[in-house]
Amino acid sequence: MSRIRLQRLTRRFGSVTAVDAVSLDVADGEFLVLLGPSGCGKSTLLRMIAGLLAPTEGRVLLGDADITDVPPRRRDLAMVFQSYALYPHLSVARNIGFPLRARGWSRAAIREKVAEVAAALDLTELLDRRPRELSGGQRQRVALGRALVRDPGAFLMDEPLSNLDAALRAGTRAEISALHKRLGATVVYVTHDQVEAMTMATRIALLDKGRLEQVGTPAEVYDEPASVFVARFLGSPAMNLIDATVAATAAGLAARAREVELPLGIDAETPERPVVLGVRPEHLAIAGQGAEGGIRAVVEAVENLGSEEVAHCRAGEARVSVRGPRPLGLRDGDRVRLTARPEHLHLFDADSGRRLA
Ligand code: ATP
Repeated sequence: MSRIRLQRLTRRFGSVTAVDAVSLDVADGEFLVLLGPSGCGKSTLLRMIAGLLAPTEGRVLLGDADITDVPPRRRDLAMVFQSYALYPHLSVARNIGFPLRARGWSRAAIREKVAEVAAALDLTELLDRRPRELSGGQRQRVALGRALVRDPGAFLMDEPLSNLDAALRAGTRAEISALHKRLGATVVYVTHDQVEAMTMATRIALLDKGRLEQVGTPAEVYDEPASVFVARFLGSPAMNLIDATVAATAAGLAARAREVELPLGIDAETPERPVVLGVRPEHLAIAGQGAEGGIRAVVEAVENLGSEEVAHCRAGEARVSVRGPRPLGLRDGDRVRLTARPEHLHLFDADSGRRLA
């Protein structure tokens, strides 16, 4: 059983609370990504799971065992860091086999296990090389191999791809995902890269200032962000967020601001209330001539992304971006009306930033 449970895990450094009462249940075989901006507490949380850092409060459980006070080497967890931490004077084979040698395995047993792991990671041809004779991606695979060879209960990974260039990162991302599926291993993976999180995770845990903001599948956190923070963090360009008021109109409730009137598709008695209105750039459409309502905006710049374009616009005080297939047919200075289907509108409480609908 490689289920990992965190119970109100907390770590303070002097007056800074780096991790604040985080409770989280990572199921056996899950690929859980801890995501958040720099300084949100991701690494601190991972280091407490690994046992490299003692919690100020709270417990860590692996399976049914409370491992909070168990030293790292006895935790049955393998850690993969962004710096590969390979031994430069040892061959790839000996780097991978190192944890087994330290455990007193026989040479024949080590050779067999190393060959098996090397085959899984496509490293068989490289077993005699030294780390300096490898590319960054190959080194990262060796570091993964060294973690894999121990058959640990779970893997803990701290930004393992951040030293790789973009192309290699995409390739290694796919490899780690494939490996996870093949092994069915439990993985807790730290990153600040939303693309890594969206593509690899079975669930994403978003952290802000040491607290859990939302835990859910990639689709859940993208489609129904629990707060303005989550809405802003996922998506590129970020979700458009506009200060607005929910008000009753002849056609039902609408979100209104100076340059905005978007029907919410619901009919209810409600006092006017201030909200933050959210709509993703890909969910805005450019209305035809003579349309009414929507967001009245002026195009300030159009960016070409290859297959798509993003138009950056101004709507009164607010900045609004629209994303769609190229060409969008817009030019700087154009006046447009932007519309969105009611089901694509997000409402957040103006004070707390929490999701309303
Ligand atoms: P990054 O993505 O930049 O690595 P992170 O989300 O991993 O950031 P942490 O490294 O966990 O964040 O840090 C969380 C907070 O705790 C930060 O405010 C950081 O300055 C503080 N912190 C971390 N380690 C220590 C330490 N050893 N002593 C004092 N403060 C620390």
